[in-house]
Amino acid sequence: AKARARGTISVFAPEMDMQIRDRRALHQDLSGAIRNGELSLYYQPQASSSKLVAETNIVGFEALARWCHPIRGFVPPSEFIPLAEESGLIVEIGEWILREACRQAAAWPKPLQIAVNLSPAQFLNSDLVSFVHRVLIETGLQPGRLELEITEGVLIEDFERGLSLLRRLKALGVRISMDDFGSGYSSLTYLQAFPFDKIKIDRAFIMNLGRNVQSAAIVRAVIGLGHGLGVSLVAEGVETQEQLDFLVEEGCDAMQGYLIGRPAPIDAYPWLVGVTPRL
Ligand code: C2E
Ligand code: CA
Ligand code: CA
Ligand code: CA
Repeated sequence: AKARARGTISVFAPEMDMQIRDRRALHQDLSGAIRNGELSLYYQPQASSSKLVAETNIVGFEALARWCHPIRGFVPPSEFIPLAEESGLIVEIGEWILREACRQAAAWPKPLQIAVNLSPAQFLNSDLVSFVHRVLIETGLQPGRLELEITEGVLIEDFERGLSLLRRLKALGVRISMDDFGSGYSSLTYLQAFPFDKIKIDRAFIMNLGRNVQSAAIVRAVIGLGHGLGVSLVAEGVETQEQLDFLVEEGCDAMQGYLIGRPAPIDAYPWLVGVTPRL
């Protein structure tokens, strides 16, 4: 993989120049991506640990944005979302993502949960609440099916504002998840102060289960903490049966990861949502 860290400062001026030009060109292309139909959504299933769910234990999907560039091919969201954030394009792109995810989910015969990521700039946009409200009305999606994922970073900036935003979103009937829990400056204060419905335990901890005892201790503690606060827990990046067994044993409520299913176009999961596969 061509891993080129963002913000890397090259000592070679020509290369640095290339990177800037590269980014400018990429930004230019991104601004036309929606219009050109280059953006799409992949969906990754989430499985409930509970045996009570009949037929399948898939309870919902997380929508993950994909950009298929006509020349470069697939550009990962870890690259184009930050680019969209810096350039302000995130508002337009984020609105497309939310509308598209709600529109598609509303058409699924099964009323599964649909989780959508909100980037920091999107979360702090003053129109967010009214936009979410509008999309729910427009698409007819039942508010309780929509889950908005935010990272704790956005709440650090302005505690009061973050709290007020979350309360107004919750008043619409949507659910709020704290994404990547443990990856940043996680503060227990946030868990207590903000009305989260779900905590998603960061993949880094799940990855290290079975490799070091500390991760197991942290995961166990986070599950206990979440349950004590009345919040449900989702483990991210579950790749092995050993990880799954540990998480079920510890009472983790739901799992997401390659072991359950990879992110894919919704056609890959026809039997889950009840849609007929395109032939
Ligand atoms: P995230 O929200 O933490 O999403 C989970 C990422 O982990 C996804 O990467 C997914 O493909 C990957 N993943 C899931 N299960 C496994 C696993 O078992 N093993 C491994 N190694 N990876 C797994 P993806 O789709 O490349 O997205 C990366 C990040 O980009 C996301 O992290 C999210 O922060 C951001 N992103 C993606 N789509 C959107 C979007 O629509 N809006 C916003 N604002 N951000 C998005
Ligand atoms: Ca997420
Ligand atoms: Ca995550
Ligand atoms: Ca992440």
